[in-house]
Amino acid sequence: MKYCTACSAEYEDAVSRCADCGGTDLVSADEMHRRGLRLDDDMDTRRFARAATADDPLTSDRFVEVLEAAEIPVFARARSDGPIEPATSGVGWWEILVPEDQVAKAAALIADARAKIEASSEEAEKAATDEEAAGEAQAREP
Ligand SMILES: [Zn+2]
Repeated sequence: MKYCTACSAEYEDAVSRCADCGGTDLVSADEMHRRGLRLDDDMDTRRFARAATADDPLTSDRFVEVLEAAEIPVFARARSDGPIEPATSGVGWWEILVPEDQVAKAAALIADARAKIEASSEEAEKAATDEEAAGEAQAREP
């Protein structure tokens, strides 16, 4: 059997990704124990809490990657503040869940990742503005 590193659900060996968690890797029971993760049976004693939220799935994925790299069990859950009509409203957000005892560590990692994402989008914006300025300068030449 294999187990989901995020929700501990049990799967046949042929399955490689958790259906519930949107593609979380599955590992053997030995690997679960090696990582200090519990199996399905004792899952109810483990409580997950929200470490952060993301406004879009890309940001959510990025946060999950960062936490997985730090070997923190994590899963993201799509939420909606209203009726779910993604095609029309696009209203939704993603909840990043980690074990309660790792929320502080996870939140710090996410704050770091968020700062990096913001820095890179500012850079992209600045590059676009520079290009625009250059274009204008060229246009002004006789
Ligand atoms: Zn799962």
